[in-house]
Amino acid sequence: MERFELTCIGCPLGCLLTVEKNGEEIKVKGNTCLNGERYAKEEVTAPKRILTQSVKVRDGVDKMCSVKTSAPIPKDMIIKASEIIREKTVDAPIEIGKIIISNICDTGVDVIATREVRKKA
Ligand code: SF4
Repeated sequence: MERFELTCIGCPLGCLLTVEKNGEEIKVKGNTCLNGERYAKEEVTAPKRILTQSVKVRDGVDKMCSVKTSAPIPKDMIIKASEIIREKTVDAPIEIGKIIISNICDTGVDVIATREVRKKA
């Protein structure tokens, strides 16, 4: 049996979770709500993260634009997704929420702009 201690990131309460994994069976203790149990089970089976980064901008008043994945993606795809984002250049103007890369790494998740970049005059 494996035993893990995690801090739930579901809300500011930050409950300390104890997870016991015995094959397919997973028991969670310390959670105040069901979101904590869901988080702990996902974290020990298929962890996911939101990726935040920046892309290069062509013809913008700023040279870079911050972006993030629109939902968490599998943790083991973070490095590959990060490389794809690093190589991407986007033409200005860019609006907040614009899809910069759709379906990154076939995750079904888009990379979207989190700030506006105006075009150079
Ligand atoms: S278990 Fe529930 S109450 Fe506790 S930190 Fe997670 S989301 Fe918040």
